[in-house]
Amino acid sequence: MTEYFEVHERDGAARLGELRLAESRETPTLVGEFLEDGGSLWPKDRDVPEGDDSVLTVLPHRAFPGGTPEEVEEAFAVDYPSVEFPSAAVVSPETATDHGADAYVLSNAQEIAGHAKAFVEAIIQTREAIPADTALYLPGVATPTNVALLAYAGVDLVDADRAVVKGTQGKYLSTDGEQFLEDLPELPCSCPACQVPREEFDREACAEHNEAVLEAELRRVRQRIRDGRLRDYIEGQARHEQWLTATFRRLDQQYGYLEQRTPVLRRAELTAATDDTLRRVEIQRFAERVTTRYHNRFDNPLVLVPCSAHKPYSESQSHGQFHDAIQFRAHTVSMTSPIGVVPQELELTYPAQHYDTVVTGQWTPTEREFVADVLEAYLERNEYPRIIAHVPGEGYRDICERVEDSLDLDFEYTAVDHPTTTESLANLASTLSDELKYSKRERQHNTIKAVADYQFGDGAGDELFEEFQTEARYPKLRVKSGSGEQLAMLVAQYGVLSLTIAGARRWVDSDVPTKRVEIDQFVPHGSVLAPGVVDASPEIRPGDEVVIEGPKAFGVGRAAMSGQEMVESTRGIASSVRHVEER
Ligand SMILES: [Zn+2]
Repeated sequence: MTEYFEVHERDGAARLGELRLAESRETPTLVGEFLEDGGSLWPKDRDVPEGDDSVLTVLPHRAFPGGTPEEVEEAFAVDYPSVEFPSAAVVSPETATDHGADAYVLSNAQEIAGHAKAFVEAIIQTREAIPADTALYLPGVATPTNVALLAYAGVDLVDADRAVVKGTQGKYLSTDGEQFLEDLPELPCSCPACQVPREEFDREACAEHNEAVLEAELRRVRQRIRDGRLRDYIEGQARHEQWLTATFRRLDQQYGYLEQRTPVLRRAELTAATDDTLRRVEIQRFAERVTTRYHNRFDNPLVLVPCSAHKPYSESQSHGQFHDAIQFRAHTVSMTSPIGVVPQELELTYPAQHYDTVVTGQWTPTEREFVADVLEAYLERNEYPRIIAHVPGEGYRDICERVEDSLDLDFEYTAVDHPTTTESLANLASTLSDELKYSKRERQHNTIKAVADYQFGDGAGDELFEEFQTEARYPKLRVKSGSGEQLAMLVAQYGVLSLTIAGARRWVDSDVPTKRVEIDQFVPHGSVLAPGVVDASPEIRPGDEVVIEGPKAFGVGRAAMSGQEMVESTRGIASSVRHVEER
């Protein structure tokens, strides 16, 4: 039971939390003055501290050096008392478990900092062993350079000990590394400690500066999490120290750990500036769903086109020109780095209209390989009578030829120099001259079904929307049953469906796996809080559409945390409730 810590927002493994002391603190933060150490049990036995709600009290503990055999740790394990005040328990990655505390102190933090492999393993092992709604504290390791990555990995609490010690050793810290004070003819900072003549700036001032920069960096990190944009920052920030770059790449290899914690949709834009972007959860998840869930329902030829900087693509100038040439006679799929391929029905779906990329006109070998792999998987799953590649020479053409060869297909190429030249557009129009147009109805129906496949799983579009009609203008489509009852709405901002009660009933009654939040005997209004959750599907991710079901209520809403977190947590909003019916 976590009384004194609550997670409010999630950005991958990073969280914006609240340490609910007498004066509440937003995390990630420095514990400093509001931490009380109950002391080590090695030299002597200690009484349970009295504790109070103005501080986080570390319960009397026995820390072990790294590499201590597990049976030794177990033999000397502390039986943590259950207390009524904000408390923290000291754990090692090997023995971490739920001790009923609000926070957990990682005992070997200083040994793993600086070592990517050990760090990633220790953090994941610990984070998965302690309840989701408890804070993780890494003592003695934070610096202005590494603290963003610590938060990105899932650390909630740090201290300024290391930054202060480095200051007293004459090491001047900044977000991009450290320098010896004597090597600095001027101070590149405007914090209060640095506002003295250079010759008066001593080691004491340096320690003050180090702590101020660490605090400022934590403010930046909190804002990044609030905006859902910590990852964009990390891709640049982690480059200042090699172990940080290695750590963040290793975290990308722990896809499951990050994926479970990454929202399926966000307001924030995603910046694609490096090859590392291709490995982020949002990109991998989109590619994975397009190549394993989506299937094309049009009988027309395929036209592959380059993406546009303007989103959604259909509102860009170049895509307007492609559209005028195509005239609903072909299915349009955009090729893009870093997303891969985007079928026209999914152009609104997160992150297809939420990314911004560096446009140099040239793709790196890694980008080419990624887009080619996705296109190949896409064409293995979707057959077309003809494939027309209306793409520019650089990058795009190479990818098309590679896929054409490896799948033994024949692409028709219609672009000369650039796809938007008059000649290219005329070629595109004339190559489609004998093709039939699809109707607006077909287009709208296929869009709803494609989004359902993407969102709910392979085959969901046909299962949930066997018979239906659409109303209103794209993109704000409303989905109604044959008898006129509303089932769902397309949310233009994220390109996902939001269901009504009737839509949710279809979901529950279908063979499509339902994401279900099982609640206690009450009728929720506005939201379901974690303590009211009895059980939840482990597949639920933050932002997912969920059915909320209990003895007294049936409803539908959007998950605010993962299914596992809903089950483990004793505080916080588990899901919003859009519609609910008493039963
Ligand atoms: Zn300063």
